[in-house]
Amino acid sequence: MAIPLRSAERTAIARLAEGLSLPKFAKSSVWLAGAGPGDPGLITVLGLHALAGADAVLYDALINPALLELVRPGADLIFAGKRRGQKSCRQADISATLVGLACAGKRVLRLKGGDPFVFGRGAEEALALTRAGITFRIVPGVTAGIGGLAYAGIPLTTRDTNHSVTFITGHDASGHLPQFDWQALAHATPVLVAYMALAHAEEIAERLIAAGRAPHTPAAIVSAASTERQSRQVTTLSRLGHAARTAQPPAIIVIGENVSLANELDWLTTLPPPQDSPRQTTSVL
Ligand code: SAH
Repeated sequence: MAIPLRSAERTAIARLAEGLSLPKFAKSSVWLAGAGPGDPGLITVLGLHALAGADAVLYDALINPALLELVRPGADLIFAGKRRGQKSCRQADISATLVGLACAGKRVLRLKGGDPFVFGRGAEEALALTRAGITFRIVPGVTAGIGGLAYAGIPLTTRDTNHSVTFITGHDASGHLPQFDWQALAHATPVLVAYMALAHAEEIAERLIAAGRAPHTPAAIVSAASTERQSRQVTTLSRLGHAARTAQPPAIIVIGENVSLANELDWLTTLPPPQDSPRQTTSVL
């Protein structure tokens, strides 16, 4: 059961929309917006503004469908993602659709999971738009590798554990594990956050250990972060591959000493039921 917005919150949103001069969503333009990792409350005010103003919304599989109920009546909703067992829409087709809708005079919202410029191919779409002479705006979102980890009680940085972070993807354009400098990843970065890496988790762990990373380094897999299906496995680098075999996508992998705080900071499971925030199952391996 959702708790309705209090009147103070409604007033604040209305004031933001009216007084704080949110940018006009012009006809024949495209906004590439991030929807956040799952919890619809994590969309930004600009993202909401775009949803309310769009004539057409092209959305990805990972966005929360509740957000689509916020579009204005009559707006076109176009699915542009990959569903289990089906082929994904071709990137060229998505870009061509964005260009075509904008050329037809529509206000086009391209709604993507997380942040559009983090492992989301947003740049490819933006390049297609600018090359076609279409005006566009980027609306950043909360990325899974930061906000999703926060929902699992894993701080991206702490002064005691890490002064830097590296984000990697487990997939290159052809679906293979990219050719990383494993020595550098093992030694130069105290915390590694891996997107799209479940299928290659075992190889990632093996290569990091072979390059000198301690096998007992804490590691975690967070699945469906910030959704009602959120689950978390807290483990070690040497057991990461084993844990990945039972983890469900979408999942973020994090490796580093910051994960050692995950149990103390596991705020989501300490919330009293019933509540509206996502629940979480945790297993410690
Ligand atoms: N642009 C997105 C990332 C798209 S790539 C962002 O900024 O978050 C898709 C990958 O993101 C997934 O394979 C997974 O690694 C991660 N991801 C997206 N949503 C997630 C979620 N709710 N929980 C865990 N991982 C998620």
